[in-house]
Amino acid sequence: MLTGLARDGGLYVPAEIPQLSHADIAAMAGQSYEEIAYRVMRPYVGDTFTDEEFRGCIDRAYAGFGHAARAPLKQLDQGHFLLELFHGPTLAFKDFAMQLIGQLFQTALKRRGRKVTIVGATSGDTGSAAIEAFRGLDNVDVFILYPHGRVSEVQRRQMTTPVESNVHALALEGDFDDCQARLKDMFNDFEFRDEVGLAGVNSINWARVLAQVVYYFSSAVSLGAPQQKVSFTVPTGNFGDIFAGYIAKRMGLPIDKLVVATNQNDILHRCLSGQGYHKGDTIPSISPSMDIQVSSNFERALFDAYDRDGSAVAQLMDELKSGGFDVSQGAMQVLQDHYQSGRASEAETNAQISATLQASAELLCPHSAVGVKVAEERRDPAVPMITLATAHPAKFPAAVEDATGVHPPLPPRMSDLYDRSERLTRVPNDLAALEAHIRENRAS
Ligand SMILES: *Cc1c(COP(=O)(O)O)cnc(C)c1O
Repeated sequence: MLTGLARDGGLYVPAEIPQLSHADIAAMAGQSYEEIAYRVMRPYVGDTFTDEEFRGCIDRAYAGFGHAARAPLKQLDQGHFLLELFHGPTLAFKDFAMQLIGQLFQTALKRRGRKVTIVGATSGDTGSAAIEAFRGLDNVDVFILYPHGRVSEVQRRQMTTPVESNVHALALEGDFDDCQARLKDMFNDFEFRDEVGLAGVNSINWARVLAQVVYYFSSAVSLGAPQQKVSFTVPTGNFGDIFAGYIAKRMGLPIDKLVVATNQNDILHRCLSGQGYHKGDTIPSISPSMDIQVSSNFERALFDAYDRDGSAVAQLMDELKSGGFDVSQGAMQVLQDHYQSGRASEAETNAQISATLQASAELLCPHSAVGVKVAEERRDPAVPMITLATAHPAKFPAAVEDATGVHPPLPPRMSDLYDRSERLTRVPNDLAALEAHIRENRAS
């Protein structure tokens, strides 16, 4: 958790996936979100935290959410449900993992008397969630790289308006893949990494994936799992959220289909359709948090598909640097056994926002609309489908208003966001300049 990325450039995965029995899962019925979170994650924690510390972290992480159920399930239609993951402080699902990670970092660092510099890259939502989770904490500086001009105004303001001096918003000249690439370069510069105590909280951090496994259990159980099978459709970019669903399935949750939903940047859909993984240009869309060519957690899916052969995956990641790779027939079979996929164009996303408002009186953010559109195409009437609603519509007001004529209001607890003053630094897409900026501006 504290390291994020492994020193050989690879990603951490658990050596073994803990199993929950039919009875363990059945016993989650009627429990609070926090209690289910404890039962799902406890087997991964070992002796890193005491039971009491771990329960305390979970309770504090979700106490600030604006909904008592934390992840409420709404019905859209016969057999189709929307899992609302946007009631946290920054109105996107990333709060589920980031709020918990903030608490876990603080507990672990205090005990060790250590300080760290967190650097993250964001297409908009990770950055605000990280800042919200770490603002004002003693042992942590947080620097967030976001693509200048390519995040929504609400996303930008959530990153640039916190007043705490340990928060640093950096607007990089480039796109999200550039932000992610510079971050990876920093982690591979071991001298810099050790000097500033670099720590990562991007979606490649295993603890974030783990925190997201919980709501697959809580939602499935509320629809009758483990007796009843359920399916999920997940608006996908970096593959962290959908991979958490795969982990839930591996732990024993009876999941029928796991559907990857992409926008017009459909590299994952093309890959899962057997066309190989080949990078193109990122085309800005109305669902910007999924505008991506390098889907970093997909590496974890490949690792399992290649039967946990690390050197085969390292070879693919090497090929990716020069444009892309083809997936072997055997690995493709494994991927297709676990994941289905679909894509929604800009026009289809826009039409879905409007159609869902008319049919179900529900205002979707554009990312969630991509999910609902793909779910409608893929769902089987005999198995309940849960589509993950990844952000609140007010986080993407322009796209929602364009589709429906309705301006989605911010929840009252953050309605002064547009009045607060902003603080940010423009930075070039250059490793040396970024490292110099971080060295000079961290407090610790
Ligand atoms: C991050 C994000 C996604 C994509 O999630 P991944 O875990 O990167 O696949 C989808 N929707 C929203 C609103 C997001 O912030």
